[in-house]
Amino acid sequence: MSSASPIQIPSRLPLLLTHEGVLLPGSTMRTSVDSARNLQLVRSRLLKGTSLQSTILGVIPNTPDPASDAQDLPPLHRIGTAALAVQVVGSNWPKPHYTLLVTGLCRFQIVQVLKEKPYPVAHVEQLDRLEEFPSTYKPRAELGELSEQFYKYAVQILDAVSLEERFKMTIPLLVRQIEGLKLLQKTRKHKQDDDKRVIAIRPLRRVTHTPGTLEDEDEDEDNDDIVMLEKKIRASSMPEQAHRVCVKEMKRLKKMPQSMPEYALTRNYLELMVELPWNKSTTDRLDIRAARVLLDNDHYAMEKLKKRVLEYLAVRQLKSSLKGPILCFVGPPGVGKTSVGRSVAKTLGREFHRIALGGVCDQSDIRGHRRTYVGSMPGRIINGLKTVGVNNPVFLLDEVDKLGKSLQGDPAAALLEVLDPEQNHNFTDHYLNVAFDLSQVLFIATANTTATIPAALLDRMEVIPVPGYTQEEKIEIAHRHLIPKQLEHHGLTPLQIQIPQPTTLDIITRYTREAGVRSLDRKLGAICRAVAVKVAEGQRKEAKLECPDTAPEGEGGREHVFKDTEPESISDSPDLALPPEMPILIDFHALKDILGPPMYDMEVSERLSQPGVAIGLAWTPLGGEIMFVEASRMDGEGQLTLTGQLGDVMKESAHLAISWLRSNAKKYHLTNASGSFDLLDNTDIHLHFPAGAVTKDGPSAGVTIVTCLASLFSGRLVRSDVAMTGEITLRGLVLPVGGIKDKVLAAHRAGLKCIVIPQRNEKDLEEIPGHVRQDLSFVRAGRLDDVLNAAFDGGFPVQARPGALDSKL
Ligand code: ADP
Repeated sequence: MSSASPIQIPSRLPLLLTHEGVLLPGSTMRTSVDSARNLQLVRSRLLKGTSLQSTILGVIPNTPDPASDAQDLPPLHRIGTAALAVQVVGSNWPKPHYTLLVTGLCRFQIVQVLKEKPYPVAHVEQLDRLEEFPSTYKPRAELGELSEQFYKYAVQILDAVSLEERFKMTIPLLVRQIEGLKLLQKTRKHKQDDDKRVIAIRPLRRVTHTPGTLEDEDEDEDNDDIVMLEKKIRASSMPEQAHRVCVKEMKRLKKMPQSMPEYALTRNYLELMVELPWNKSTTDRLDIRAARVLLDNDHYAMEKLKKRVLEYLAVRQLKSSLKGPILCFVGPPGVGKTSVGRSVAKTLGREFHRIALGGVCDQSDIRGHRRTYVGSMPGRIINGLKTVGVNNPVFLLDEVDKLGKSLQGDPAAALLEVLDPEQNHNFTDHYLNVAFDLSQVLFIATANTTATIPAALLDRMEVIPVPGYTQEEKIEIAHRHLIPKQLEHHGLTPLQIQIPQPTTLDIITRYTREAGVRSLDRKLGAICRAVAVKVAEGQRKEAKLECPDTAPEGEGGREHVFKDTEPESISDSPDLALPPEMPILIDFHALKDILGPPMYDMEVSERLSQPGVAIGLAWTPLGGEIMFVEASRMDGEGQLTLTGQLGDVMKESAHLAISWLRSNAKKYHLTNASGSFDLLDNTDIHLHFPAGAVTKDGPSAGVTIVTCLASLFSGRLVRSDVAMTGEITLRGLVLPVGGIKDKVLAAHRAGLKCIVIPQRNEKDLEEIPGHVRQDLSFVRAGRLDDVLNAAFDGGFPVQARPGALDSKL
């Protein structure tokens, strides 16, 4: 053995930092190149140059530190191995990734790092050539002894000329080598499991084992698993093409060493393939009458939606085919869209699975990743099928309006393929890479608005609007469905808690402001939790009390526990208090105790106590809302300032409104501060739409802006019980707008009494439930005069004839 290497390495070496092992001189290693630094090195040193010089690298072992910044060069191990790059394989797509084969030549020591970016280059000193090196220096005598020993062992093996002898000598060496490799692989596998939480590579191992037999057991189990997997493939009823792929992959798997990362990948793939419900389905049991009963039992109101769903199911029953448009329930959150989807599945006796699409912006979320990726997975459709275990579930595609788009492809396009009955019997997930028949899946979509559903997707769907609820409907829903569900959820009974209807109404009007019933449900949950604590505490106290008769004599029997005289929060009530009498009655005091002070108690009239404020009605994907518009004027040069995150259309409405008022100032006796009919003369106007964080747009605020400005310049207050909506023209006409039902419901929720709508929206009033219509009066405005006359007590201007169009439906 000579300590000098015959190879002279360059004194400047580019450094390849690798965390996949330590390369020793004379050995060969395959290392994956994925860090930006190493990629740069490979590109500029190996993929461009062809001379041998450029293929010699310095390989430095490096432990990645997740806490350190990837940009900074980590502290370098001082000694590395100069290596010859033998082979580079890989591709730049979908992201650059290479694998490098390197052979170690000799060791070197870093003398100085010459540059760090884009990849490190160091001035190095070749070590294997040096006669002496302080830290590894061995006295000649010892070195001689060691080399003698090594020589003796080597010559032993060399002397074994007969095959039998050679086997005898090398087998123990091989066994030791294999054992070492297995241990290494096991630690790696555990690490992989922990790090990536990849699908379990193998079923749970037996915990008990006798020491020394672990490896054998592992191997046996592995083999058993593979045999089982193979059996499952044979028994599976998957289509022929899929079967062929499985058989092929199985053959590959058997040949692969288990230490290869691809082994786990292939195995996971095969396990998924046998698990998928290729041919497994539930039997539909559709009985329209039963379906009607079930839908009615589960949901109060929403008659239109239930009717349409029943029609859809009836057609399916007659045609026994799923071809046709996909139902898409569109409405604010918490109006029961998901819940109806679930009921459809229940009626058909099918499995139900919800796929949340909100925020999905990568098509591989739908269609899976190709298996070339480490950590690749099937898409949500295939995953859903695996979860439900049948090929004909009801899939609820939730929030299709919130699909995103990114460089990783358009998920809407992938979804189109899923939904298209012409294509979806052949849906190919990238991960599976074989077709799966989705034609038996019943898809139902939900969205808050159709505005952001991609057009091609919307084209495939039949939109069924699900409007918000009225207060009365909410009370019914609460008492028929939400409260019983919450009681059950919290282990309470009506004998322990009572929530009377006026309390529910208080929650609806003073603690929530929503079109659906989601917050209402949450508030009811909070009440039940608080009562559950009381009941549990009461039970404990009762147990403690020796004589139950010592409980106070309630003056009318039952009594609520959250009395005025008991100001502390219910959770802090004194431990000595006596158990509450049942049922615990939830009244407004109790509500305040549990939920805190009401959130929406600001009186509308308070906000309209100054001129220059009017109430408009807005439509948002979350339902209708009332919207205050405020205006103020000040000395200036005729500037208009708009605040409150307005869209372009809304800004135009503001300009239109001002122009119309300026041109009609004389007619309505409107003057600026100095008495001039030119309203903007020496005057600036500021219009603000509160809730400034929410972007608002659309033309329907036109009438509200006019009214608000008319109030500002006339100094008169707008009626505090009037809300309005309508687009305006320069000539003072009022044009129809959308979302009337939601807007009217919002006005009703806010306790307003009179609603100004465009005349041409009259037909929309038919959709408003009778009891809501009874509470309200509607003004159907054709011109802005009608709006102003309705908005101001005594008409506008005062002498004008009173709102002739005022009517009660
Ligand atoms: P969405 O999908 O529209 O956001 P959900 O279906 O999740 O709303 O409904 C929220 C909750 O309100 C569910 O518990 C649901 O059962 C209940 N709910 C909504 N509407 C009704 C209704 N009309 N009748 C009974 N429960 C309802």
